[in-house]
Amino acid sequence: MATAQNTGLLFLVSAPSGAGKSSLVHALIESDPRVHLSISFTTRGIRPGEADGRDYNFISLEEFEQRKQRGEFLEWAFVHGNYYGTNKLWIEKELSAGHDVMLEIDWQGAFQVKKIFPGVISTFILPPSIETLKQRLVGRGTDAPEVIAKRLSGAGAEIVHAPQFDYVIINRDFDQAARELQSIVAAARLRFSQQKMRNRELFSRLGVPG
Ligand code: GDP
Ligand code: ADP
Ligand code: 5GP
Repeated sequence: MATAQNTGLLFLVSAPSGAGKSSLVHALIESDPRVHLSISFTTRGIRPGEADGRDYNFISLEEFEQRKQRGEFLEWAFVHGNYYGTNKLWIEKELSAGHDVMLEIDWQGAFQVKKIFPGVISTFILPPSIETLKQRLVGRGTDAPEVIAKRLSGAGAEIVHAPQFDYVIINRDFDQAARELQSIVAAARLRFSQQKMRNRELFSRLGVPG
């Protein structure tokens, strides 16, 4: 379990495409390298500027099917016409080594992960408006107009699931939103169970019970 003793914390972030989830997660990881980012498998084509093994493990539909059959995914989902899946073995190893892990997955994946790790700390990222979402997707310059249209039309279907998440960040001002994501991580690390796990000797010297 994410909150059990001797394991790292499990975080996840979901958002409609273009809300700024990847940018915010990358800002978090740059400021806090103790958070390890899960690299998903996907059947989506690689975008300009992306690198295989860094942004995603880009694989064929056949390989995705094989990995799914072998039970290698913690969760998987079909999103905007492509398959995405989380590397189960990697997550288990990272958490049991006491590392904190961040997943960047869609709402379907978020719900599957919540069932497996009820202690997962989930955050939903909202754009300040649908118009801004469109401007960001266009401005990012990585997707064809029909891909952008598909992602925009799917935004509402993603947003309706926001109430099921623990935290919500409105990504208006980037720096503020980045600080808010850092605060969520910081607060989770200050929980009693985490502090005790990470400061065992001090707790015992001070006679902290529990
Ligand atoms: P983005 O929406 O612009 O970040 O585009 P991406 O192609 O990177 O991601 C598409 C969708 O797939 C997003 O909703 C991601 O959160 C989701 N996604 C990425 N990796 C995974 C994964 O391993 N599992 C699940 N369930 N969803 C994922
Ligand atoms: P997602 O991973 O949710 O699809 P990205 O992180 O790729 O979103 O962000 C989409 C685009 O919007 C990127 O070009 C990014 O630089 C830009 N962006 C993200 N957050 C902000 C913000 N607060 N203000 C302006 N532009 C932003
Ligand atoms: P993109 O293709 O723009 O990188 O991602 C599109 C969507 O797929 C995003 O909402 C992203 O969070 C989601 N996604 C990426 N990887 C995974 C994954 O491993 N599992 C699930 N369920 N969704 C993912």
